[in-house]
Amino acid sequence: MNISRRNFLKVSSSSAVALALGCGKELGPGENLSPTPAWVDTRDPKYGRETTTLCAYCAGGCGNIVTTALVDGENKVVNIEGDPDHPINQGGLCSKAQSLYQVANNERRMKKVLYRAPGASDWTEISWEDALNGIADKIKATRDATFETVEGANTVNRTRGIAFIGGSGNENEEGYLYTKLARSLGVVYLETQARI
Ligand code: SF4
Repeated sequence: MNISRRNFLKVSSSSAVALALGCGKELGPGENLSPTPAWVDTRDPKYGRETTTLCAYCAGGCGNIVTTALVDGENKVVNIEGDPDHPINQGGLCSKAQSLYQVANNERRMKKVLYRAPGASDWTEISWEDALNGIADKIKATRDATFETVEGANTVNRTRGIAFIGGSGNENEEGYLYTKLARSLGVVYLETQARI
């Protein structure tokens, strides 16, 4: 059979349309070929207390639902999954976040403050109060020793002796408060882990 170039194009294009429409099958009532949204459906099963939080691993800021329940008399993380209501990940989580529960349920997780004095080789356990007071003392001493009020003819009121870093697990509001705190101290080296 001889097929002209014009007829070949006609046949090809009508075949392509037929393929796109489902090989010529007529659509029934209620059927359509629109893409199906693939985000995770809101789910019902609840087998513990659910809390929403953010993944702390990268700058994505994906939302998680963390389920905690009593296991052998101890409150433990028993499940972490993507939050379908979160605008960023809409229920999805990457493989890193799916291992997040291991951060909480981990025998090697530090639960107490350890301090190693200058020159010492051993770590000693101290209270949170002592730790926070010690940090505050060091910030004040460093700021007092390094504070600059002017540079040339310009007022700068800054310290370059302290750097401040936030984490990607911090929410907007926390980040706002941390930034306020750092700026009020005159810190100019201010960064977030999410941007590094
Ligand atoms: S789930 Fe993955 S992409 Fe989202 S914030 Fe965590 S590490 Fe980043």
